[in-house]
Amino acid sequence: MERKIDRKQAVWDEIRGLKLIAEYVPGLVPSTFLNSLVKALSPYATIWLSAQLLEELAGPCRANILWKWVIATLAVTAALGIVNALLKRWNDTAGDLYNPNKKRIITDKFFSMDYADVDDQKIRDLRAQIFQNENFMGYGLNRCLENLENLVQSVVGILSGLGLTVTLFISPVADAKWRILNGFLPPLALMAMMALTIWFGAVTSRILMQKQTEMNDLGTLGNRLFHKLFNMCPDGKRRLDIRTYSQEKIIRPTMEESAFVPGGPFDRLYKGPWSMLASAASGTSAIFTGCVYIFACLKAWGGAFGIGSVTQYVGAATALAGNVAMFLETVNFISANAPFMEDTFRLLDTPNAMYQGSLTTEKRSDRQYHVEFRDVSFRYPGTENWALRHVNMKFKVGSRLAIVGENGSGKTTFIKLLCRLYDPQEGQILLNGIDIRKYNYRDYMDIFSVVFQDFQLLPQSLGANVAGSGSYDRERVKKALVDAGFEECMSAMPQGLDTQLYKDFAENGVEVSGGEAQKIAIARALYKDAPFIILDEPTAALDPMAEAEIYGKFNDIVTDKTAIYISHRLSSCKFCDEIAVFDQGQVVQQGTHDGLVEAEGKYRELWNAQAQYYTK
Ligand code: ADP
Repeated sequence: MERKIDRKQAVWDEIRGLKLIAEYVPGLVPSTFLNSLVKALSPYATIWLSAQLLEELAGPCRANILWKWVIATLAVTAALGIVNALLKRWNDTAGDLYNPNKKRIITDKFFSMDYADVDDQKIRDLRAQIFQNENFMGYGLNRCLENLENLVQSVVGILSGLGLTVTLFISPVADAKWRILNGFLPPLALMAMMALTIWFGAVTSRILMQKQTEMNDLGTLGNRLFHKLFNMCPDGKRRLDIRTYSQEKIIRPTMEESAFVPGGPFDRLYKGPWSMLASAASGTSAIFTGCVYIFACLKAWGGAFGIGSVTQYVGAATALAGNVAMFLETVNFISANAPFMEDTFRLLDTPNAMYQGSLTTEKRSDRQYHVEFRDVSFRYPGTENWALRHVNMKFKVGSRLAIVGENGSGKTTFIKLLCRLYDPQEGQILLNGIDIRKYNYRDYMDIFSVVFQDFQLLPQSLGANVAGSGSYDRERVKKALVDAGFEECMSAMPQGLDTQLYKDFAENGVEVSGGEAQKIAIARALYKDAPFIILDEPTAALDPMAEAEIYGKFNDIVTDKTAIYISHRLSSCKFCDEIAVFDQGQVVQQGTHDGLVEAEGKYRELWNAQAQYYTK
């Protein structure tokens, strides 16, 4: 897909990209600028000084002048060498921080974005696209830095080159035999040749760049497939399935059809005519250098300048041509990079559309909270079907509410709306009579402890996982773990609370089982000590003994909190004060177990369906 952005906007995108980099890695932009500047100037200083030295050697060869040039050459070369090394060191050190910190730019955005956007497939695709743009052809933020480097080098190179070559044209030859060289034709021919060389190089490289950009989508898809499929093989969650079902039979052919295989589109492009022509264009600059040599030698022969200056002119004129080509290429790159920068900015500029209220959630000591869903309807962004439809429900603190229903009936969605991960499209959710949108978001989140079905623990210490922080109250963490039934496992942990979970960051990390992880997740919810505790299928991964243990002390665990409890196993909901039955996004029944099991309806249907396995 080719996207056109005008040059002015492309320059603004480049500047914004550099500002972003400067924000995350402060020294990188100035060190790149200065490093490129000195790197570009150094060869010209050396060319000029060596020319003066050679001139003196080949000409009058005065000892008192010669040694001054020698000292000046040595001093300038040494000084430039030191400055170069220092700047390079500064630039390299800042550069080492670039890659890890660049990832923070996107990560920070994801931390602060509305949850609905984090969960949006389009946003996740955009993020993947940004990474792939960089991985595949280096487009995006990386390119902004390269553009800056090449721009500084080429501009300095052009100015220095012009300064050093001007006398090549204006110094007249004295010898009548070569007077023709004083006319305007030879310099004009040389300049025309230089322009032709540069033009040829710029056109072929631009076309090649364009072709690569046109194929970017193909390349990013190929790269994405490769990346995903390669990483699947060692992935802990997948390797069992891959081995058991010989999934390499599916994975391998997909890899073999990728755009990067020998004979594939990229192979053909790189071996094709445009690529060859771009190489030929580099070759033509050698012919131009040869012509400058001839012109400079003839002028020196004719007495326009000394033989020492020939090296200066040849070096400077060739570098000048190279730098003009580099300048044009960089200008092309800034334009070519702009659409990819716009991808990055589109993600970073995703607005937080959720209304952010300012009311503080009362930290009531009596924990008297009262929640009401008033005619709430919701569908996930980008979907047609209502996940919840006209839901009306009230519950108050201290009660035990069970939510039951078949898969996909809307139970988890109900919890997500209650926790304000999404806002409903219709209706209102009220806390103590006030629309939850009016509360300060962070404050509101603090009143909920949730164990979601697909909770994830971090590869950090056991204690940090429970507390959600590196510094925590060890006694409270231990109590939460004991209450969640993890006491026995905790005593088996080699470093107690400091034991690292999983092996991602620690060789001696402990791989906890699904059931153990679930207990840790419950402990995490208990440690938060929020007035609402919500457990979404909390015992799904537990064995029957552990499940019975959790239920046995459920009242002790929950104390005076409001517990909302989602479960498929209706027998485990019996102890709740109230049960809400969900069906196809609606609350179809509400009441106590005894009342519901007596009545005709969904609950009894579900109860009977499950009971048949236990009654024999
Ligand atoms: P339950 O918890 O009862 O199994 P959910 O609340 O998870 O049901 O799902 C309710 C409906 O919403 C289902 O049809 C499900 O496919 C859909 N759904 C759930 N999560 C998403 C999502 N992130 N994007 C789109 N649809 C979703």
